[in-house]
Amino acid sequence: MLKAAFPGSFDPPTLGHLNIIRRAASIFDELLVVVAENRRKKYLFSAEERVSLIAELIRDLQNVSVVICDSLIVDFLQKHDTRLLVRGIRGVDDFSYEFELSMINKSLDPRIETIFMTTDPEYFVLRSTVIKELASFHGNVAGMVPPLVADALADKYR
Ligand code: ADP
Repeated sequence: MLKAAFPGSFDPPTLGHLNIIRRAASIFDELLVVVAENRRKKYLFSAEERVSLIAELIRDLQNVSVVICDSLIVDFLQKHDTRLLVRGIRGVDDFSYEFELSMINKSLDPRIETIFMTTDPEYFVLRSTVIKELASFHGNVAGMVPPLVADALADKYR
């Protein structure tokens, strides 16, 4: 039984995140999408809003669930009885950051294995920060996020 966790801010979830979720769900028996809640970070969407957006978008995937995490990911993994961490890679910048993060996680718990999944080419420019910036100027974000998220962004910046 292979159970993996895919953590992130998902502020908001993009087509890039969903692509990784769907591909990871086809590899692992069970996938936990882990919505980070870091008190020192400012989010546009609350953790509950991010969870409900993702939950709606993955309704058809029986082996995926969405949970909030306000602790260290290594503690979360231990609590949820898994040691597999999925991370998406858009390019070399992501890789160097993610590589360091995986080294830190491994030093905290040597059993943790980070599995890097490269983005599908059509999603490699998608970044939540850029999408929020675009949406704040009422730019067209269709093609970057699902319609549900585009509507939620429009509501935030109305
Ligand atoms: P962002 O980096 O956009 O703020 P997150 O922190 O929510 O996104 O990222 C969660 C995970 O999803 C990270 O591993 C990140 O590299 C990955 N990810 C984000 N956008 C994409 C994308 N377009 N393609 C593949 N992976 C992505």
